Amino acid sequence: MTTGHQGVWSDSPEMTGLFLDFDGTLSEIVDDPSDARPLTGIPPEMTRLSRRLGLVAVVSGRTAQELLEWFGPDVELWGLYGAERSIDGTISVSDDLATYEPLIKTVLQQAERRAESLGIEGLLVEDKGYMVGLHWRKAPDRTRAAEAMTSLADELTAEHDLVQAPGKCALELRPPVEWSKGDVVSARTNSAGLEGAAFVGDDRGDLPAFDALDRLEEEGLSTIKVGVRSLESPPELLRRADVIVDGPTGVLRWLRDLAG
Ligand SMILES: [Mg+2]
Repeated sequence: MTTGHQGVWSDSPEMTGLFLDFDGTLSEIVDDPSDARPLTGIPPEMTRLSRRLGLVAVVSGRTAQELLEWFGPDVELWGLYGAERSIDGTISVSDDLATYEPLIKTVLQQAERRAESLGIEGLLVEDKGYMVGLHWRKAPDRTRAAEAMTSLADELTAEHDLVQAPGKCALELRPPVEWSKGDVVSARTNSAGLEGAAFVGDDRGDLPAFDALDRLEEEGLSTIKVGVRSLESPPELLRRADVIVDGPTGVLRWLRDLAG
């Protein structure tokens, strides 16, 4: 927590916002992404906090539909790094992204076909609606799988003018539309008129949210960057964090402290 503005967290919780990543933060990292679930105890803690704080939001690379199934309509949910939003259980997608739906369907089919033809065990192509996930966590030979999937990603990126985002034993192919978790943090903090904001995350995709908090801090807001430590946490994330917690169980403990 930054010094000088700490009062807002205890004095005016209704003026503070809490943003959280999902995978590795609220859920343990699992081999198959479809097996992930929030850690028991976390959803009720978030519901409790959402009554007390100005805003509690999950901002994830997951689809809004998945988040909705896990958290229900009471928590603010942003899917696909903020390109999708669920409001009262209804999902909407940014106009920019919606135009790419047919292209991404084609990319998904090509990725599935080509990944299959590689003949490497443990590869997974994930349909994320407006993005395609390439995973190799389950591959017995991860080095070989990573090389093959990276080349496949490079081919598809060049053929269809896509952009890539790295993950943990995974890569994502996205349309060339600019958006990030940082955009959600900035936009929602401003639109809700908050005086303080915190972000909790464990991976590279969370760094734009840390950047957004740094900018808000310069504008005089009280901010907290929470880094979730695991064996795979990027060093930059932990170096920049104000608070470090260990895994989703550490996050749960931190949320309980915050709820007082
Ligand atoms: Mg994560």
